[in-house]
Amino acid sequence: MTEFHLTGFRHEKTAEGLRLSCDVRDGTSVRELVYSIAGSPSELLPPQSADWALVGLFLPAMMQGRSIKIDAPISRELLYNANNDLQALFKVWRPRVKPIKIEASSSDPSFANEGRMATGFSGGIDSFATLILNEEGAGANEIGALTIFDVGAFGKDAAACEPIKERSKQRLKQLAEKTGRDWFAVDTNLDDFFRGLFQSSFQRTHTMRNASAALALQSHVDIYGISSSFAYTDNMFSGTDISKIDPILLPLLTTGAFRFVSAGASLSRQEKTRLVSTYEPAFDTLDVCIAAAEFRSDVTNCSNCPKCRRTLVALDALGRLESFKNSFDLDLYRENREAAAKTIFAAANASMSNRELRDLIKGTELEPKMGLRDHFKGLKIKLRAKVKAL
Ligand SMILES: [Zn+2]
Repeated sequence: MTEFHLTGFRHEKTAEGLRLSCDVRDGTSVRELVYSIAGSPSELLPPQSADWALVGLFLPAMMQGRSIKIDAPISRELLYNANNDLQALFKVWRPRVKPIKIEASSSDPSFANEGRMATGFSGGIDSFATLILNEEGAGANEIGALTIFDVGAFGKDAAACEPIKERSKQRLKQLAEKTGRDWFAVDTNLDDFFRGLFQSSFQRTHTMRNASAALALQSHVDIYGISSSFAYTDNMFSGTDISKIDPILLPLLTTGAFRFVSAGASLSRQEKTRLVSTYEPAFDTLDVCIAAAEFRSDVTNCSNCPKCRRTLVALDALGRLESFKNSFDLDLYRENREAAAKTIFAAANASMSNRELRDLIKGTELEPKMGLRDHFKGLKIKLRAKVKAL
């Protein structure tokens, strides 16, 4: 395989803010990698290194066994880890990736870290929990900025997803303004470089994609909290979601000046839900839905997808359902409540969060009466999760 040659790094001011780009040469073809940044600061500054491009293309390169040559500076610590520990980690997690060599035109030592922390805000349980845990001096660092990144999360059908993306952006701006924080939005075409590669789905790769966008903000941010989806107590090397290895992966993406933290990994999903269930700013804005765009263009949460159902059952068990009546369709949930509870019981062995949720509703009026057919369904769910993880 020919190498990726990253060259022609440039940045220009645009009406929205700043556009970073470079050419990605691979043998005879050239593709442009583009990151468009918008944000609340009056002047948006480009990063001093090309760390964002290296982290963005690191997995596509390992998946294809392409070495990377970069005609721009890379932070010394990141360059070392990208040639060593990062590759060793991904080799354990995804055995089919191939070793590669990474060269940069120069490598800089660390600059000072000023402790400016930012975190992604999607409106979900994990990101609300991160805000609560870092509120007013409660955490190690105060969160000074909220971000939204389009690195592939909004799906491939751009037209269908545009309204949802816009709604997420407006929600981010409103919350940032209300709480006196800065905000940043980064739009990228990074997804194009993952498309068609083996095991390159968003779920399997999102930490690297988001870290890459965060590194594009290096001139404004020094610490980036990636809200954990799993707790330390979860089994790290099982399943398909890359978040499982975040506690090991994120320290390896540090540049010296820029640090990543796994925010909220000390809490389980249900502990976070309990925390968020009494947090007033979340009542009307909580957004956990994973349904396709057409099911949630009018409402924030479809109230019927697996994630909506699980969250609603948890809120119900905590006696907090009514507070979230503007975020969900509670009538629809009540119609499906028994079926939702049955699925949780049946799938209790498929994931830790399901197991925890089952324990929460056991012995309450929410506990379903399980028939033989329901148990059978559980076996199927467990099997499907095992096959998916292969
Ligand atoms: Zn949903």
